[in-house]
Amino acid sequence: MKILPYGHQCIGEDDIKAVVKVLRSDFLTQGPRVKEFEDSLANRVGAKFGVVFSSGTAALHGAYFAAGLSSEDEMITSPITFLATANAALFLGAHPVFADIEPDTGNIVPGLIEEAITNKTKAIVPVHFSGHPARLKEIAEIAQKHRLISIEDACHALGAQYLSTNIGDCTYSDMTVFSFHPVKSITAGEGGAVLTNNEDLYKKLIMFRHHGVTKEEFAFQNKDNHHGRWYYEMQYLGYNYRLTDIHSALGISQLKKLDKFITRRREIVETYSKAFRNSPFFDVPVEKSYAKSSWHLYPIRLKDEYKSRKFDIFEKLRQKGLGVQVHYIPVHLQPYYQHLGYEKGLCPDAEDFYQREISIPLYPSMTDSEIDFVIDTTVSIFQKI
Ligand SMILES: *Cc1c(COP(=O)(O)O)cnc(C)c1O
Repeated sequence: MKILPYGHQCIGEDDIKAVVKVLRSDFLTQGPRVKEFEDSLANRVGAKFGVVFSSGTAALHGAYFAAGLSSEDEMITSPITFLATANAALFLGAHPVFADIEPDTGNIVPGLIEEAITNKTKAIVPVHFSGHPARLKEIAEIAQKHRLISIEDACHALGAQYLSTNIGDCTYSDMTVFSFHPVKSITAGEGGAVLTNNEDLYKKLIMFRHHGVTKEEFAFQNKDNHHGRWYYEMQYLGYNYRLTDIHSALGISQLKKLDKFITRRREIVETYSKAFRNSPFFDVPVEKSYAKSSWHLYPIRLKDEYKSRKFDIFEKLRQKGLGVQVHYIPVHLQPYYQHLGYEKGLCPDAEDFYQREISIPLYPSMTDSEIDFVIDTTVSIFQKI
């Protein structure tokens, strides 16, 4: 039986041609495609600078580094996210603080961010869960008031809009992070990016990606003017987080189809939500008036009476060919975080969200008959529980 996964890439002949062209060229990595991908991204979302990384996780690590997060600092984020959002803070020795979520969107509550601020807080990291933008205006106001850096984890949200702005243009933040993992809005195989309008952050990001090294003469700390052309300087402890030209070529080619992908995702969501609107078993995802979601996921939420049946429901959906998934196990409930001292009950609404949430298949290459199959299968399984 064919299983329909919860998410899947959409690769065309144009993508394949773009990658093969790089394979036949002189540069497999650190060639012209990297900058071209960065410029296309920045252009598409309306930010000044883009820096691509080998993954979204590496991009988060870079953004937190550029923000200056260190072992003295706390950052505030949502527990309903992929582990990387919080882990990347741990990479720098910083302390993630979890603020609870809105039960309908799954996004962080601005008021609870403000309550969680201490004199150690350095950064706020809202996650645009499922592609639905968080309440960025309120969050930006809090960041400004308390002089905090705000970084959007927009790994779900390339192609989304908040009010009249594109996610990624950093109108309401210092940096925005994307991922190009195959299930995301567009893919580069693996890959990630940080967008910013701040030149200082941009320079740090570029160096962090490549061992903390610069070759820019004006930036040298050793002001000896007899440096040979071989000269380079390491000024930070960085990493090899480079993205290759092969990946970048795929990213460039995919980015051209972003609008098409999002339009298709929105069509599928409209069909689902029409079919499931009056379900007595679960609530369908919402889209607030300030948001245009990129619909990375279609997260249904079981109603009170069915919460305790999630295990069975999930198993039955899988047995019938729906590759459903759960997004997410709240980060603070993971054993590693429990050992660090985070306790169950820390974020009751996030923990409740986890009890209810199931993501059903949603990706742009789904056919109309696959969409019907998902609807019919879902309806019939719930009718029998
Ligand atoms: C995918 C994802 C990441 C990490 O991206 P990778 O490219 O897989 O490293 C981080 N945060 C969120 C919310 C994600 O969905």
